[in-house]
Amino acid sequence: MKEIHSNINIIGGGLIGASVAYSLSLLGLKITIIEKNKPYQSKNHEDTRTIAISEGTKNFLAKIDLWPQIEKFAQPIEKIKIIDRKPSNELKFDNKRRGSNLGYIVKNKEVLNALYKKLRERKNVKVFNNSSVKSFEFEDDTISTFLDNKSLNSSLVIAADGKNSYVRKVFKTPTFKKNYKKSAFVTTFTHSKNHNNTAYEFFYKDGPLAILPMLNFNNEFTSSIIWTNNNEYLNNLAEIENIKLSQILNKQTQKSVGTISKILTKQIFPLTAHLNTSFYENRTVYVGDSAHSFHPIAGQGWNLGMSDVESIYNLVKKYRSLGIEVGGNSFCEEYHNNNFYNAYRLYQITDKLDNIFKSQNILFSLGRRLGLGFIQNNKKLSNFISDFAMGIN
Ligand SMILES: Cc1cc2nc3c(=O)[nH]c(=O)nc-3n(C[C@H](O)[C@H](O)[C@H](O)COP(=O)(O)OP(=O)(O)OC[C@H]3O[C@@H](n4cnc5c(N)ncnc54)[C@H](O)[C@@H]3O)c2cc1C
Repeated sequence: MKEIHSNINIIGGGLIGASVAYSLSLLGLKITIIEKNKPYQSKNHEDTRTIAISEGTKNFLAKIDLWPQIEKFAQPIEKIKIIDRKPSNELKFDNKRRGSNLGYIVKNKEVLNALYKKLRERKNVKVFNNSSVKSFEFEDDTISTFLDNKSLNSSLVIAADGKNSYVRKVFKTPTFKKNYKKSAFVTTFTHSKNHNNTAYEFFYKDGPLAILPMLNFNNEFTSSIIWTNNNEYLNNLAEIENIKLSQILNKQTQKSVGTISKILTKQIFPLTAHLNTSFYENRTVYVGDSAHSFHPIAGQGWNLGMSDVESIYNLVKKYRSLGIEVGGNSFCEEYHNNNFYNAYRLYQITDKLDNIFKSQNILFSLGRRLGLGFIQNNKKLSNFISDFAMGIN
């Protein structure tokens, strides 16, 4: 059996695993990544989702010199409109106050593409594709990760293997979890009216529908929709002809971006959320969806994963400057303490938001209407919410 030594071994090379690998490689550490799928190739990549990158995440991406590669593909959001059932119940945000954007919409595959382009330039990063972990063993200050024909020895393992984390199953880390018994229908499309850099979120009784502005495709205005609804309804929706689908979407989007010209992609994701009760085990920390996943109502899942990545980056820097070992119990515990509460807070917020906005109950509905008016007229509160959307509170 071949033995390979690195400082940190990352399991999962998705959006978060690749980000943590790249950022830590800048600190001069030797990094290995184990990814169960084939090598990442943008053309074959099937994920048609977009992510809303918050200002907080953008600042970190700029710090590690990744933002210039991503910015080319990023559509800025200058305004957000929240509509509760009908346009008369509307809440608007912009960010003239801070003189920056409220976020940026980028295709997941463009972010991965930029990350792997950068990773290929790093001599201290080795990626093992089509590889699965068989077991772990501990000896003194080393954790050994066994694959079929090799063992990767490191002082820390970072689990970035997504919401159904294999590592979490092996270490039996307990979770809180919720199955919303709903799905998200994600579609990208071209349309007749300029989106004017505006994102919309409509709250309907069966779930929210967000329209996210994208860069033009073939010189046509382009946006994506994330629509939460009942599984059966969305499965049927995905099957119908695009002409009929466009008609339904035109009605639901209340023509805010004009009429839909062409459906470019469509995909369905079942909605579940979870939170690990601990973000660490022996010489192992969980980042991104392996630690937490949320209802996409606030579009913050990846952003929170990126704040885990930034936290590890800062912690590794600090421990190395103090000459303390990276991967020991105090390192892992400090990582948990720095990140668990934020994830717990987002888990609660996204869950409660979903309940409040879908409720038909007269009190909730009155509260929502008063609430939207109150928020709009209360500068402090609306500033707090726009800062939350930007990932800076
Ligand atoms: C509909 C929808 C819309 C969303 N919109 C937004 C948004 O606007 N903004 C936002 O911030 N977030 C959003 N999110 C959340 C965001 O997509 C996720 O938080 C993010 O993709 C998580 O990245 P990850 O790398 O942690 O996990 P993943 O993307 O799941 O990557 C995990 C990786 O690990 C690999 N892997 C799995 N098991 C193993 C194993 N045993 N061994 C080795 N490798 C393994 C997988 O192949 C994969 O490459 C949305 C989510 C959904 C469902």
